[in-house]
Amino acid sequence: RQPIIAIDGPAGAGKSTVTKGVAQRLGLLYLDTGAMYRALTWQVLEAGINLEDEAAIAELTAHSQVQFINSPEDNNQRVLINGEDITQAIRTPRVTAQVSLVSQVRAVRQQLVAQQQRWGRKGGIVAEGRDIGTRVFPDAELKIFLTASVQERARRRLQDLQEQGIPGGNLEELELQIAERDRLDSTRKTSPLRKSPDAIEIVTDGLTIETVIEQIVQLYQK
Ligand code: C5P
Repeated sequence: RQPIIAIDGPAGAGKSTVTKGVAQRLGLLYLDTGAMYRALTWQVLEAGINLEDEAAIAELTAHSQVQFINSPEDNNQRVLINGEDITQAIRTPRVTAQVSLVSQVRAVRQQLVAQQQRWGRKGGIVAEGRDIGTRVFPDAELKIFLTASVQERARRRLQDLQEQGIPGGNLEELELQIAERDRLDSTRKTSPLRKSPDAIEIVTDGLTIETVIEQIVQLYQK
């Protein structure tokens, strides 16, 4: 069987960059499950569905197909929903602010988790998310729980947004948003964010991305 590496943790801990880096180093595929929840959230907002209308969200989910395309030229993954490229749109503050509500809906989680497990069965992936080690791939070869202080995570988010030229957010606001997303993600009924007992925790304050990638690669190769 091909290996699965699960990388979980809260918003802004560096999961995406680290997960991509580990996948590249080990020649495995990269799976960003947060992008899937963001894609559905984008669609819910586009459709003008009330975020409390779980039945309508479930119905829309059943008719939605999230796809990833790896573009070899820039090493960046494109995200599509029903054929439409929404790679940029899913990173806007509007989607970020609502994604924790949509990802609480049971039907949403059921469908996305099933899809993730189908991809995982083909094997050879490094997957990042909130419930990868606890729910999606409980028997992953290696589980990492990546975290950092709220202040550090807000600083990184701000830098990301600036680099991508996305307006919105000062540090204080981002800290509040991140703390709120932590709260929602870790108190929801279905698969809340928590460290799997057998995951190795890495606190990334003050560590470079390269250091963290190297640590994980070494843990895997042990
Ligand atoms: O990782 P990212 O910030 O893109 O995740 C966006 C949101 O998607 C999270 O705040 C969480 O609500 C949801 N999510 C989830 N389960 C995952 C990945 C993401 O509920 N496995």
